[in-house]
Amino acid sequence: MRVFVILPAAGIGTRMAAAGAAAPKQFLELGGQPILIHSLKAFAGVAEVTEILVAVRPQEMKRVHQQVAAAGLNGRVRVVEGGENRQGSVANALAALDCADDDIVLVHDAVRPLIDGHTIERTIAAIQKHGAAIVGVPAIDTIKQVERTADGAIITGTIPRELIVQAQTPQGATAARLRRAFAEANADGFSGTDEASVLERAGMEVALVAGSPRNFKITQPGDLELAEFYLKH
Ligand code: C5P
Repeated sequence: MRVFVILPAAGIGTRMAAAGAAAPKQFLELGGQPILIHSLKAFAGVAEVTEILVAVRPQEMKRVHQQVAAAGLNGRVRVVEGGENRQGSVANALAALDCADDDIVLVHDAVRPLIDGHTIERTIAAIQKHGAAIVGVPAIDTIKQVERTADGAIITGTIPRELIVQAQTPQGATAARLRRAFAEANADGFSGTDEASVLERAGMEVALVAGSPRNFKITQPGDLELAEFYLKH
């Protein structure tokens, strides 16, 4: 059994761009190096990882090749073309992977640079045991269900907090499971925002690995400062 990693990094970062950021968020610097490189290094530091595929937009390929080389990560990293949405980027990388059915494939948002090796290892172990697993954190806030109206959102119910987990990444499964679930989603035109939603709808059991608030997704202005804070502490 080998472990392969896909880092979808082909997003445009609309919310950051609107706030004046010069580059998509995965290329912004955190502690002196690009966010994407932090994410790459975390996975490159895990001994079980055989190869990491980074999915980027065609116009970013050169920049990413240079950043990967500058970080001394050339050996185990391959840059591939991303897709229209996150699922499309992952599907492209999945198609480019040369792996066996029982190899493990992990997918990690490039914009979660504070993932740690121990959580990656626990996710790999959970996939070995259950076939598929994701990292998640319990919901802290009370969660409301709403109906959107022209006048704004109206609450229609409260979802018991103990039933709610917020999904993070890495998320993964054996290559056979992930490929079958993605093929079914593709055939049905289903587009999910994470791998678990694709695996769940294919009827597969997905286990949960406890994550940490540190592993948050850098999304909006202010998140970079928060990530800098976590990095220092
Ligand atoms: O869009 P979201 O914030 O959920 O993005 C999560 C990850 O998916 C980011 O690392 C982003 O670069 C990536 N992505 C991608 N291809 C797209 C859109 C997003 O690889 N077309």
